[in-house]
Order: sequence, then C-alpha cells, then structure tokens
Amino acid sequence: MNKNQVMRKLPKIGALLEDPDIKKLFEKFNRNLITRTLRESLETVRLEQIKAVESGDSATEKSEEDLKNLVISLALKKLSLQQYSLKRTINATGVVLHTNLGRAPLPDDALEHIAQVACDYSNLEYDIEKGERGERYNHVKDLLCEITGAEDAIVVNNNAGAVLICLSALAFHKDVIISRGQLVEIGGSFRVPEVMALSGANLIEVGTTNKTHLSDYEKAINENTGLLLKVHQSNFKMVGFSSQVESSEMKLLAQEHGLPLMEDLGSGVLVDLRAYGLPQEPTVQESVKSGVDIITFSGDKLLGGPQAGIIIGRHEYISSIKHHPLARTLRIDKLTLAALEAVLRLYRDGELDKIPIIKLLRRTADEMEHVAKEFADSINKVLNGKGRAEVADDFSQVGGGSLPGVEIPTKAVALNLYGHTAQEVSDMLRKTAVPIIGRIYKDKFMLDLRTMSRRDIDKTIELIEGLL
Ligand SMILES: *Cc1c(COP(=O)(O)O)cnc(C)c1O
Repeated sequence: MNKNQVMRKLPKIGALLEDPDIKKLFEKFNRNLITRTLRESLETVRLEQIKAVESGDSATEKSEEDLKNLVISLALKKLSLQQYSLKRTINATGVVLHTNLGRAPLPDDALEHIAQVACDYSNLEYDIEKGERGERYNHVKDLLCEITGAEDAIVVNNNAGAVLICLSALAFHKDVIISRGQLVEIGGSFRVPEVMALSGANLIEVGTTNKTHLSDYEKAINENTGLLLKVHQSNFKMVGFSSQVESSEMKLLAQEHGLPLMEDLGSGVLVDLRAYGLPQEPTVQESVKSGVDIITFSGDKLLGGPQAGIIIGRHEYISSIKHHPLARTLRIDKLTLAALEAVLRLYRDGELDKIPIIKLLRRTADEMEHVAKEFADSINKVLNGKGRAEVADDFSQVGGGSLPGVEIPTKAVALNLYGHTAQEVSDMLRKTAVPIIGRIYKDKFMLDLRTMSRRDIDKTIELIEGLL
C-alpha cells in the first residue's frame, strides 16, 4: 500500500458523522466538538498509517472498515475523556496540602461567594458608602486585622510575591540582615537569596548554618541597613546543636535602630495546632504579638484558603507596599479575594470545622476506621474475587512545605488487583475519568482515607468497578 492508497481508504468526516455510535454522542456533546474530535482522530490515524507505509510495515495494513473503526474508537476515547485540562482529582495520598494537587481544598462558603461575585458585577474597587472608587484590599483588611491583631493588611497573588514586594518596597538598595540558617529554598524556584536579589535588596547573611545569635545581627547593622528579616524554616527541621533568635528579641534590636523587622512565616497558621495533637507551628497571632512589623504568609497552606500572599503589619509599611509598582503586577484577582473573604469569615466566626484543611488535619485514625472498613468492603464487592482490598494502619503527611517530618496516624485501604503490580494498579487508577492518586508503600498500592471525602470514596468505588 502506498500513501495515496492510505488516503483513499480513510473514512470521510461526513460518513463518520453518520455512524450510529457517533450519532448517539449528539445527545451528550456539541456537534462542533464531535466534528473536531473526529478530524483530530482521523489525522492521528492518517499519520500513523503513513508512517507504517513509509517504514514498510505491511503488518499494519488495514482495511477501510478497520480504519474507520480505528478513527471512531479513538474519537470515542477522546470524547469520554473530554474534560477540562484542569480537573478534579481524588487525592488518596494522605498528603493534606499537596502542592501538585492544588494545596488546600476550599470550603463550600468560598465557592458560594465566588459564584456570587463571578458572574455579576461587584464592588471590587468601589466604595458603596461614598459612591466613589474604593480599594480591593478593603474586602479582607478588617477581617485580617481582627483575626491576627495586626494594624493593617494587604493581599497579593501568592506568598513568594508577598516577600518580593515587601523587600522591594521596604529595603530597595538597602541591606537586609538574615540568619544563614534561614536562607531557605521552598521548592519550585523560591530561594530566599534569589528573591532578595530580584527585589533590589542586598543580602547580608549572619551567623552560621546551625546557630545565629542576636549579637550577629547587632554587629551587622550599619547606616545602610534596611530591615531585619526572619524566614520560617517551614519545610525542613534542624535538630541538635542549633538555635535561632526569637522574634521578640529581634524586635527590641530593630526598634533600637529604628528598623522594621519582617518575618516570612510561610504557612499561615491561625490556630494552635497542638489542640489537634500536632506539633506547634508559630501562629500568625504570636508573630504579631512579638512585635514583628511586617509578616507574610500563604493563603493556601495551613490557612486552608485560596492561593494568595497575605501581608499584615504596621500601617506605614503596608502603605508603602500598597503604593509600590509591584502591587499592580502582583494584584490579587476578584475570585481569589471572594474565596479568601469567605475563609477568613469562618475563622472570625469560629466555624473551623467548615474549613477542609482543618477538618482533615483533625481526623484521627479511630474516626476513620469505620469508613475505611466500609470502603474496603465495598471495593471487595465490586472486585468480586479479582483482587482484594484491606484496611491498613499508615501515616499521612501534612505536605505543602509545612510541618516537615510530622507523621499523622491514619487509616488506608491497600488495594491489590490480582495479576497486577502495585505500580500497574497505580497507573490504572490514575488514568480513570477522575484520576485517583494514591501512593505505593512497601509494594502495596494505598488509598489514604485522611484526604478522601465521602464523594471521593463513592467515586473511587464506581471508578474501580468501571475498570473491571
Ligand atoms: C511556601 C513558602 C513560600 C512561598 O509561598 P507561596 O504561597 O507558595 O508563593 C515562601 N516562604 C516560605 C517560608 C514558605 O514556606
């Protein structure tokens, strides 16, 4: 067969649209989408066949009927997967703040507020009281001040941006003094020295990797010092002979020299995690209390809100930041703002149980036991002897560069499909209509209940059934 013969044997779009299997799709999908998908599938098959002809691979010679079926099955597959690129996935990894899986899931209140604001006009930058231009930051400013005890607040796109704008607005061409033990890399491409360079501030590192004393900061202060910076070692732990200087001590030193003290907290914890049996993380409120002038943290880490960079602190500094040109480039959008306002209101009103991240962190293995058993039973029922699901004791992680090394006891379901390795099971579940992302531990594929909602559990059972 040569190329022309291939071309002649390929089905025509018109004929494909008349195929009964394709016709059925008109109930579910729009005609343009179906036609486009058929064209794409046809093109894929055409290229494959030409390649086969060129490589002289006669084994791949197909009849007209074969080619038509090939195009149709490809199109059906594409359409059944026809979903948004960004889509719901089931997080069965047990990593509560999984950066690759979207960090914090939002509470329903956030979704409702987004819906209200998204499809209509809003007072995003309009002062209804005065009937004139207002500020977008005002929608969350009072809430942030009330919850944290800070004087003023502004929010930007994310915490990396928050750190950048603070340094640029407050210490451009000035020295910023930081402990060597806090020159951290957060992952992705956030490295404190690099962000500092980009901001136009000069990095002055003091102390040693493991220990920094107040006197180290003191000795480094001169007339060109712009601020003292503290960065939370959020994604790693230092043990043994190590120490950093307390914020309250640094505050006294900064005050003595008329300098602002800034702290990048990373994860914005607004509640005492010890109440949930987790190790202590410095809270935003504590940082405000110890006198830190400017504090930055993420909206979508332990706070459990949307991606955002929250900056709180003294009014004079917030004001400089607000008027800095980077404020426009890092501007928070209205949907994020709507979500953030909703989440912050839950904190203010003490409705912590409505915040998914808090709920997930609080779950105990005992609480999950019953659900885990039911889940395993349901899976076993649909497996019908083709595999086995068993409840297992395991550990979840917080993730998102928060609480490193902390392992929270959890319940998981170990899923074995006979004749398949754990990796194969993992691959199969990942490629379902709603991707299920689990983890492999000691050659077993595990579904951790901690990060799975009721909806996720039901969907997972349905998807496993569909696989068999
Ligand atoms: C996570 C983190 C950042 C970056 O925050 P994003 O919200 O991801 O931009 C910066 N600093 C610290 C200490 C962090 O933990």
